[in-house]
Amino acid sequence: MRSQISISKLARPEIVAMKPYSSARSEAPGEGVLLNANESPWSLLPDSKLNRYPEPQPQRLVSRLANLYQVNRKQLLVTRGSDEGIDLLTRVFCRAGEDAILQCTPAFGMYAIAAQTQGVDVVSIPRLAADNFSMDVDKLLLTLANDTRLKLIFLTTPNNPTGDSIDKATLLKILQSVNGRALVVVDEAYAEFSNKASFCPLVTEYNNLVILRTLSKAWAGAGLRCGTVIAQTEVIDLLGRIIAPYPLASPVVELAERLLDPEVLSLQQQQLQALANNKQRLFTILKAQNYITDIWPGDANFILIRLDDASGLMRYCGQQNIILRAFNNEPLLQNCIRISVGSNSDLDSLETVLKTWKTT
Ligand SMILES: *Cc1c(COP(=O)(O)O)cnc(C)c1O
Repeated sequence: MRSQISISKLARPEIVAMKPYSSARSEAPGEGVLLNANESPWSLLPDSKLNRYPEPQPQRLVSRLANLYQVNRKQLLVTRGSDEGIDLLTRVFCRAGEDAILQCTPAFGMYAIAAQTQGVDVVSIPRLAADNFSMDVDKLLLTLANDTRLKLIFLTTPNNPTGDSIDKATLLKILQSVNGRALVVVDEAYAEFSNKASFCPLVTEYNNLVILRTLSKAWAGAGLRCGTVIAQTEVIDLLGRIIAPYPLASPVVELAERLLDPEVLSLQQQQLQALANNKQRLFTILKAQNYITDIWPGDANFILIRLDDASGLMRYCGQQNIILRAFNNEPLLQNCIRISVGSNSDLDSLETVLKTWKTT
């Protein structure tokens, strides 16, 4: 392995120096005569243990996630969705008024929100619209070389909302170029929809690589709010210093463990296959509308399109209760609409509406 500087040197010194809060449940296991957390001894709801604080990092769930993502348990932190992972990373590594994050726009909106909340500058590198919105790697590398304020580089693969993916050679180049200076955060929220391999195995080799995974998309668990940060233990321990003492509510933990039961896996695989089929059908439906000028199918569970009058179509669809996503504030995505792959009946409704637009 190459020699690597300690990641703690990149973190905010006050986070490294502080003594983390020690919760009752983290000091002692939740068994025995429990008189240490000022809990009620009785539950008001039968069959529940709502009177007890949950495990800070529930062991069974951690094991299942480690198994799912094929990483070591100590390389993983369970969070309230990836949103919380993004926020924790920003707060641990970025000093207000001094540091900056980088994103390749159009990008997922939460990277900038987390940075702005923390008083941290956002450097945006526009994607190449003429090349299927791929990242402008030359400009990215140049910026990484010149801007010493950068602490977090947010990459998304497949990207939302453009659907394009990052290849391994590019990621390695970026990792090496900021080695010892910044962390590269690869958001793999849509990885399961893509046939490209996850970058999780690289975490063991690169101490400045962080991967974000979530149960919100391919695990049909958006309502759970359950995400996973994957990185070397040093990073995970730093994030653990500032995460809320009991981030995951016990009903959430119970449901997340059930979701990852081996028995659910085959149903999940069936649903992923059905979504892949429906994506093909959605593509065919879109292709048949001659007012749609561009279609970017991408590698995720949505398709991005462009047409001359996106707001007109958005309005018409809205009147028929078909809710799509437009990007009015994104210069590169003017007149673009993102359409999630839905069920067959969702697609039936969408098809009817798309066919009748401008002819009624
Ligand atoms: C949907 C999505 C997520 C998921 O966020 P959660 O907080 O886990 O629901 C993360 N990143 C991107 C790019 C997304 O589009």
